[in-house]
Amino acid sequence: MPTLFEKIIAGELPANIVYRDSRVVAFLDIRPAAPVHILIVSHKVIPTTDDIADEDESLIGHMVIVARDLARQQGIAKSGYRLIINCNPDSGQDVYHLHLHLLGGRPLGPLVQRT
Ligand code: AMP
Repeated sequence: MPTLFEKIIAGELPANIVYRDSRVVAFLDIRPAAPVHILIVSHKVIPTTDDIADEDESLIGHMVIVARDLARQQGIAKSGYRLIINCNPDSGQDVYHLHLHLLGGRPLGPLVQRT
């Protein structure tokens, strides 16, 4: 079964795409948690960070570089932002296709809720 994000990459599902190249696509999160909430998604299907192979090193670096550039474009590089990758159930990962959340545009508060 293709993931939701594979369908977006293939153009089979609509998305508000803000960047695309041969390795990643970036689009607006459908349920934004901040004024800027962009998902940077690898074309390669990697379910979780636990499935990243050593050979994916440059892809992961590329995802961060794309996030950096998008943060600059969005005008949040100096005010600040957060990059998040969820992995497996305790993180709340919902879509099992590697993606980096770029969040910013307001103070984001503590990284993790203290219980
Ligand atoms: P995660 O919990 O890290 O797997 O994040 C999945 C993210 O995908 C959530 O923030 C969702 O709001 C977002 N999402 C789910 N479906 C779509 C969609 N069709 N278009 C854009 N973002 C989506």
